[in-house]
Amino acid sequence: MNRRIIAGGLAAIGVLLLIAVLGSLYGSQTLLPAILASGALSALSALIVALILQQVKPSISRDKTGVEEPSSLTPPPEAHPSHRALETAQMSEEMFRLAMNNAPIGMALVSPEGRWIRVNRALCDLVGYAEEELLVTDFQTITHPEDLDKDLSHVQQMLRKEIDFYHMEKRYIRKNGEHVWILLSVSLVWDHNDKPRYFISQIQDIDARKKAEEALRISKERLELALQAGQLGTWDWDVPADEVHFDARWAEMIGYQVEELAPRASTWEQAIHPEDRSHVLAALEAHLQGNTETYEAEHRLRHKDGTWIWILTKGKVIERNSHGEPRRVCGTHLDVTLQRHAQEELAAFARELERSNKELEDFAHIASHDLKEPLRGIRNYSTFLLEDYEAVLDEDGQHKLHTLARLTSRLEDLIGELLHYSRVGRTQLALQSVDLHVAVADVVDSLTGWLEELHGHVIVEDCLPTIHCHQVLAAEVFRNLITNGIKYNNNENRQVEVGTQPNGAGGTVFYVRDNGIGIAERHQEAIFRIFKRLHARDKFGGGTGAGLSITQKIVRRHGGNIWLESEEGKGTTFFFTLQSSDETPEGPS
Ligand code: ADP
Repeated sequence: MNRRIIAGGLAAIGVLLLIAVLGSLYGSQTLLPAILASGALSALSALIVALILQQVKPSISRDKTGVEEPSSLTPPPEAHPSHRALETAQMSEEMFRLAMNNAPIGMALVSPEGRWIRVNRALCDLVGYAEEELLVTDFQTITHPEDLDKDLSHVQQMLRKEIDFYHMEKRYIRKNGEHVWILLSVSLVWDHNDKPRYFISQIQDIDARKKAEEALRISKERLELALQAGQLGTWDWDVPADEVHFDARWAEMIGYQVEELAPRASTWEQAIHPEDRSHVLAALEAHLQGNTETYEAEHRLRHKDGTWIWILTKGKVIERNSHGEPRRVCGTHLDVTLQRHAQEELAAFARELERSNKELEDFAHIASHDLKEPLRGIRNYSTFLLEDYEAVLDEDGQHKLHTLARLTSRLEDLIGELLHYSRVGRTQLALQSVDLHVAVADVVDSLTGWLEELHGHVIVEDCLPTIHCHQVLAAEVFRNLITNGIKYNNNENRQVEVGTQPNGAGGTVFYVRDNGIGIAERHQEAIFRIFKRLHARDKFGGGTGAGLSITQKIVRRHGGNIWLESEEGKGTTFFFTLQSSDETPEGPS
């Protein structure tokens, strides 16, 4: 036992230390058992190395290239070796051979030029070569090209005696072309003339660990990219220790560097807007108590510059102790300030629109209501004039008086429609279950005489549904569309069809289809404007041009929509819904 044993022992300690350092560097709990196991392997192999160094003083022969190699690892024969000494040497050789061959990690003796001198079974298995195949090659051949320079530079440093040993992670190329990650530990044996004799290499398979690390790196990178793309900041709260890990984006959202923030929950809590604090803390508490599936809140946080930013935070308890108390809570922060401001602007705009609409409706209502009375007076007086003085007026006077009476009556109609239009907007929608089959039948019934006069037919689908709507107004929609279909029709056989079709979202689309004159595409939007008519006043039975705008208003008040398809000369189909798309009808009656 001499310096070499001590060197071997030191090598073992060195390898263990290295493993401990690697372990703390990787810091992964899952890797720790593997690292400890590989530490044990290293210690074992270091002892084998010690054995080599203690027991073996190899006799040196020269190979063809002039490289000295140990022809045998037994001591060189003395001039007159005793029988015992020879026996001891043979035993040592056998012990070494067994130890090396059965070592669970790869081991090799390598010439200063890199040629494999001796390799064990574990190494052969690792790289997939037979021993004879490996012995005719060198380590450079099976080292991954990207790792070779680093390895060679270590070798040179050793040969220059700048270092005594080295460890490195590198890749070998297996016989089948695959790469395998290994941890290489190398020391160098010098001869008594201070010339390098051979390297002793220990090779551990760390492929699984490297692949796990790589998979972890990729998944971390993916997570980071996703968080970056989603502009999400993260927080990770160790509840018992009251330690919070805020990430850089979390801090940046409120204008800080992470280092400027104390890693405590109070850092966040104190930055919450006083008006939001109670509802945010209540939501958090409810989740910590296990009353909600996730924690979610939208609230303001104070920015470093003193302004308030809006945050949407979501989180979840991911670990609880045996009493069910939260141990770890993780979550994200999303800056929703812009959306929040846009929402507020939109809400303000909608309020303003509602106010001005109401004002307009009030105005139309008051104006038409107040105009009605004097207008009725004018109409009455023009009728009295006609009755009492028509005979005394000349033809021109009579014509003017008739025109006055006609215009007054028309103005009365218009004012009446305007009043009706404004009423539709002001009416409280008393919704009830309405059997549309009955309602439409009533409408058609009330039109019987008029339909006969115009040779018109109305065909109503058998199963119109019962829906939740305003009975009178819904009937008015059908009435307006049916009368228009018969009115704006030059067909000898005027026909209107009333039916339904599904709207794809579980609701019902009603249609009123006619075989009338059709509506040119350029007018299809304008016809919904109040008092818009496409024809001369006395054509197609006249009208005020208010029917479709009132119809549209009724439909919209029910949360529905109205549109049409038309072809000039062939007919028009009006489609409409009487419920918003998320409401479903009550089903056919
Ligand atoms: P009114 O019938 O009192 O004129 P509406 O608002 O009901 O008012 O209709 C506006 C205009 O749209 C009508 O004047 C007519 O020109 C056109 N129109 C409405 N329905 C039809 C239809 N089914 N076919 C052809 N044109 C139509």
